[in-house]
Amino acid sequence: QERELLTWRDKQAITQDQYKISVGANIGGLADTKRARKFGADEIGLFRTEVLFMSYGHWPSEEEQFDWYKRILLEMEGRPVIFRVLDIGGDKPLPYFPIEEQNPFLGYRGVRVLFDQIRLFREQLRALYRASRFGPVRIMFPMIHSVEEWKSIQVICEDVRAETGVEPVDLGLMVETPAAALLIDYFVEHVQFISIGTNDLTQYTLAVDRQNDRVKDLYDPLHPAVLRLIRKVAQSAAKKNVWVGVCGELAGDETMLPFWIGLGVNELSVNPNRVLSIKKRISDLSRSEAQQLVANLDNAMTREDVNRILFGKSI
Ligand code: PEP
Ligand code: MG
Repeated sequence: QERELLTWRDKQAITQDQYKISVGANIGGLADTKRARKFGADEIGLFRTEVLFMSYGHWPSEEEQFDWYKRILLEMEGRPVIFRVLDIGGDKPLPYFPIEEQNPFLGYRGVRVLFDQIRLFREQLRALYRASRFGPVRIMFPMIHSVEEWKSIQVICEDVRAETGVEPVDLGLMVETPAAALLIDYFVEHVQFISIGTNDLTQYTLAVDRQNDRVKDLYDPLHPAVLRLIRKVAQSAAKKNVWVGVCGELAGDETMLPFWIGLGVNELSVNPNRVLSIKKRISDLSRSEAQQLVANLDNAMTREDVNRILFGKSI
């Protein structure tokens, strides 16, 4: 069975009715990159640069970062890599950059930290732009919740790019706050790609801490409100032909593949060891059936509705 799965390594995932979808990997370092390739990842849909930062005892310099990014791109041999700029705060502490807060998930996190530490932000961007000579770099920004943030990012990136003298690279945002999802019509006109972060989008839409055991039963990515936001995002992106990836945990849930395929997303980015089985499973599905399923979701108001429509069963 494992051997059969391995035949998917170099094949593209394609549905019965010829809909192609990339299966990428979520990674945090060089060892992961090797695993991603071993398991046939078409690309890297989320490189969590904070994992790299956590492996250092100090803030890595531009040169140290450049060296890492370059190695990862070379390892991927020309396949795209979505580098997410540093996403610390919330659940991701950096030992040499402590943040103490009452409400870390609603506080100093993601791009908020980077705007505040602009010299360090620019350093990371410089390292990424310089590395773009070695492979297709795409840069992604976490925790965006306003148009103003995106405008600032465009200005900063263009400035750093000009400084480094390289060609432009694709810039995209993570859709992981309800605000970004609700303003998606603006973003799809001004970004090169988006990636849906279902982990945080669930937490922020439902106001349920993704790490708190006492409310873990309420943390439900299949809540109809979350699915509704995701649908809005995918539909808006499709209208403008903007590339959509999914990089939260829900991307790697096999039972949700019809949902993603029905929405017409371009990529699912999953744990490296899930890539092969996801590719195989996609090949059993039909996009037109999946589209019908998603259309039926339009009226879902309860979790029971979702279950019935997606899985054909009551709770
Ligand atoms: C997400 O929020 O869905 C996501 C992929 O990012 P992270 O889990 O790193 O916050
Ligand atoms: Mg997130």
